Amino acid sequence: MCIFCKIIEGEIPSKKVYEDEQILAILDISQTTKGHTLVMPKKHYDKFLDMPENEFGLLMEKTQRIAGQIVRNLNAKGCNILINTGETAGQTVMHMHVHIIPRYDENDTVSFSFHENQYDLDEILKEIKEN
Ligand code: AMP
Ligand code: ZN
Repeated sequence: MCIFCKIIEGEIPSKKVYEDEQILAILDISQTTKGHTLVMPKKHYDKFLDMPENEFGLLMEKTQRIAGQIVRNLNAKGCNILINTGETAGQTVMHMHVHIIPRYDENDTVSFSFHENQYDLDEILKEIKEN
């Protein structure tokens, strides 16, 4: 059983932010920023790309509601909603989950870097749309 399934089963303790029959939200142990929360389906899927399309509606509705509550009650100015998919993308726990990372100011220890484009956009579109 994966570590998040063990948390869902109550075998490993966690700080529960929200729980219902399908969804569990817990405080992330790393607390990248204050209130950093993980929202996960109780049903195990390794990755974002493995989850059936029709189960995202509920997951994202709950994520929006929980994120709103966190931002409001912790007086954050906003938040990042993040899903790491695959080890190369930084996924370390192979049980699909959504990060809610509250943002307070520019000194938050979160950074996303954007680069100058080095690709032919039309070529990329063609590749994506093939098949
Ligand atoms: P990711 O890198 O997207 O797979 O995110 C995994 C997250 O799970 C990391 O931010 C970890 O800090 C967090 N994490 C790992 N183990 C636990 C745990 N037992 N309880 C709460 N969060 C955890
Ligand atoms: Zn699992």
